[in-house]
Amino acid sequence: MKKRFKLEFNRDKCKGCEICVSFCPKKLLALDKEVNSKGYHPACITDQDACIGCQSCALMCPDCCISIYELEEGE
Ligand code: SF4
Ligand code: SF4
Repeated sequence: MKKRFKLEFNRDKCKGCEICVSFCPKKLLALDKEVNSKGYHPACITDQDACIGCQSCALMCPDCCISIYELEEGE
């Protein structure tokens, strides 16, 4: 069974620098159309099911805005 992952973003901490966007090997990250409380467009994931859980995005984010969880079967 393929492992599945869920990303959570700290949207209000994100400054929209796009480092995570450029480091995702699957090109799954983008900046949201909405702005956060600081006026930045925060990062979001475009296709959660395609995430391979490599953690590149979370490791590269200078502000530790991304958390990655492995989902249990049925979640
Ligand atoms: S964990 Fe890897 S595949 Fe998933 S969004 Fe982050 S960089 Fe992309
Ligand atoms: S690297 Fe971090 S601060 Fe920069 S856009 Fe991604 S989540 Fe936001």
